[in-house]
Amino acid sequence: MKVQWGSCSPAGRITLNPLLVKAPRECIDYVLLHELCHLLHHNHSPKFYQALDRHMPRWRAIKEKLDNMVEEVFRG
Ligand SMILES: [Zn+2]
Repeated sequence: MKVQWGSCSPAGRITLNPLLVKAPRECIDYVLLHELCHLLHHNHSPKFYQALDRHMPRWRAIKEKLDNMVEEVFRG
């Protein structure tokens, strides 16, 4: 199941999925940071991931945790 947790428009408007409030705090922080990094880099380039790594070195583990709880969050 593929879910869009957040998005960032070319104009810099960040939108978060309301269901994110059910996720652990660190997952919310990860999604927010991901979108904030898109304000710097509007793509998933190596520089984008460098920015993520710099601010949240553990982001891969947190993303995996979030991906694994998608169904749980949506079931409510
Ligand atoms: Zn992205």
